Amino acid sequence: MSKTQPFFTLLRNAAIIAPNELGKQDILIAGSKIAAIGKNLELPQGYDGKEINLTDHTVLPGFIDSHVHMIGGGGEGGYATRTPEIVLSKVTTSGVTTLIGCLGTDGTTRHMESLLAKARGLEEEGLSTYIYTGAYEIPTPTITGSVRKDIIIIDKIIGTGEIAMSDHRSAQPTKSEYQKLAAEARVGGMLSGKAGIIDMHLGDGADGMKLLYEITANGEIPKAQFLPTHVNRNAKLLDESIAWAKQGGMMDITSGVSPASGSSKAIKPSAAVKKALVKGVPLTQITMSSDGNGSMPIFDEKGNTIGVGVASQASMLEEVRDMVQAEGISLSDAVQIVTSNVAHVLKLRHKGTITIGADADILVINKEFHLKEVWCKGQHMVENGKPIVFGTFEASSSNS
Ligand code: ZN
Repeated sequence: MSKTQPFFTLLRNAAIIAPNELGKQDILIAGSKIAAIGKNLELPQGYDGKEINLTDHTVLPGFIDSHVHMIGGGGEGGYATRTPEIVLSKVTTSGVTTLIGCLGTDGTTRHMESLLAKARGLEEEGLSTYIYTGAYEIPTPTITGSVRKDIIIIDKIIGTGEIAMSDHRSAQPTKSEYQKLAAEARVGGMLSGKAGIIDMHLGDGADGMKLLYEITANGEIPKAQFLPTHVNRNAKLLDESIAWAKQGGMMDITSGVSPASGSSKAIKPSAAVKKALVKGVPLTQITMSSDGNGSMPIFDEKGNTIGVGVASQASMLEEVRDMVQAEGISLSDAVQIVTSNVAHVLKLRHKGTITIGADADILVINKEFHLKEVWCKGQHMVENGKPIVFGTFEASSSNS
């Protein structure tokens, strides 16, 4: 926590979505933790503290983004299309306080060691970070030579991913290759008390989720061990993921994949959530991540890259807003999809809720759904809509 910031912060009169609705209360932040929630709280006398009145504002837990290309991704259009590293204020101003980093298509010129270093750097700058070991391909790149060993002995590694399936950029693994990888992640998670999740990138391939069903058919590796992502990229895949989630699997909708961002076959993320709920998917089985900072290659019918963009994490808050305003989902339910559901599936025990003892990862939005304030582990990062803490090189560039 920054030395220039007070140890105690008292947030007064905010409507709290924890993500369950707690009504109007005060929140006392002490250091990096939420110390108290209640009515008419007071700052401890004689200590360094600050009080902020949040009447007419709503407080939410910080978002957990389970799929971020922290050191960049892409490269499908050649070296010049490799996307750059993410910077601190881009994350905080999107309302994301915890992020899980991954490689992507390129597990050759990008390395797990670089991803681990970047995650540690972002953590030093104030965020909470984790990573997946691996990349699209199987055998997948690791640090120790084994997915299982990476998960067990490297604190920041909580699973494997993003492993590609049904995608022309995958390594075309067999069912048994996927199964062996999933077993490695699962046992690694068991032995280390981590999720051991397999973050599974699903492409536009005709087989969709077919192999996921085959891998889990004998019941030894449960459906819940996987986090299939990008499931809103086309209507058929969304329907398959809805069926999967009704059988106990998770479905991760990508906020950065939508018709508005150039994916013409995609289902708008907020509408995909609504469809899943209407079709009977339990709310707890749905999560959303941004695919932030990855490239968004645009292919023609023959699979040739015809353009490239960079995905923003800001789409998460926009889609939460649209879940509420366009789809009529309650704010509490919408927020659960980007906070407590993600914390639960990734076993991040102090994350995703506003509760006493949890990390003080807190967002404040106004009536217009604009993000006004952000705290990451008790550090005030965004004030009145503007970043006040910058990453190492952001600060030097803005000072020069
Ligand atoms: Zn992906």
